Amino acid sequence: SGSFEVDSNATVLLMGLRRSGKSSICKVVFHNTQPLDTLYLESTTKPTTENFKSLIDLAVIELPGQLNLFEPALYDYEKLFTSIGALVYVIDSQDEYLSALQNLAVIIKYAVSVNPKIHIEVLIHKIDGLSEDFRLDTQRDIMQRVGDDLLDYGLEGVQISFYLTSIFDHSIYEAFSRIVQKLIYELPALENLLDLLMQYSNFDKVFLFDINSKIYVATDSSPVDIQNYEVCAEFIDVSIDLDGLYESNSQQQQQHTQQQLKRNSITDTFEENINQSQYQTSVSEDVDALANAKPTKCISRLENGTMLYLHQMIRGLALVAVSRLEDSDETTALSVIDHNVAIFKKSLEKMWEHAKFR
Ligand code: GDP
Repeated sequence: SGSFEVDSNATVLLMGLRRSGKSSICKVVFHNTQPLDTLYLESTTKPTTENFKSLIDLAVIELPGQLNLFEPALYDYEKLFTSIGALVYVIDSQDEYLSALQNLAVIIKYAVSVNPKIHIEVLIHKIDGLSEDFRLDTQRDIMQRVGDDLLDYGLEGVQISFYLTSIFDHSIYEAFSRIVQKLIYELPALENLLDLLMQYSNFDKVFLFDINSKIYVATDSSPVDIQNYEVCAEFIDVSIDLDGLYESNSQQQQQHTQQQLKRNSITDTFEENINQSQYQTSVSEDVDALANAKPTKCISRLENGTMLYLHQMIRGLALVAVSRLEDSDETTALSVIDHNVAIFKKSLEKMWEHAKFR
């Protein structure tokens, strides 16, 4: 019988019927696969575990097919469900979903019986195929039916969160960000720190990103505007590309970099003690072992005057901020920002040290 090596509550279990989109979600979010390349994925036939090392250890365990709790168990389900922090159930909204809802109800009943603290998250997935109106109708219908099923089981108090998702836009990242954030014990403290940082650094928005997956593990308390999210997530990619290109330092590649930056409508980057080149990334010494070959700091200004600021943190995380600084205050403002960000990074390190021995 199969077993799972799961060591903390910061573990996410991904479930759903065959072809609902589980493997695609893992590939797109955790392996940077292009959404269209998931079209011909082989369906999952064995449980897989994704290890996502960040401020928390997150494992996405994907179970193939349908869980039948009344068959002789292939897996130690009790051990599995007691060791996870969140159950993420994927429903294909483009398909007939009644059997998925029945399956979900059985799983919820079992999950809360062995682990009452479990977070239950439902992805109403593949919404790219539904019109705007129909998305909300579908969500309402699914929420209603799940509510009725839970009532039948006498489980009306169970909290369930629903998300409309698609791998073809940022909704899947937004959903995973919110799901992961619920599992971070330090979140309120992190949010406080980010609010302070924002206030003292004149940021409009600040995210703490996991560099590899583009999930944000925390943000300040102002509402998330999806455009800000997109700009910041793309800036991570641009910064990584730039850094890779700068390493080899060839003239040809620098030209390529400049063209690439123009395509991304970034018109200027700056840094103290830079050379003649118009575009710069700076790499400082404290290379994080978990995400080396990544830039530790990168600053750019978009055509509309918005400044983007990226600074690498610990554990594969990066702080990415949006600011609308005036050109004239740049130099002084940047040194203040650098100073504040350094303090934030120290606090994060302390928080992490503390978390390890909790
Ligand atoms: P699994 O059996 O649950 O792992 O499902 P797969 O990941 O193999 O996905 C089944 C099919 O759904 C694949 O052809 C995917 O390309 C497709 N798919 C996954 N996510 C989405 C989505 O958000 N939108 C659309 N339109 N198709 C998706």
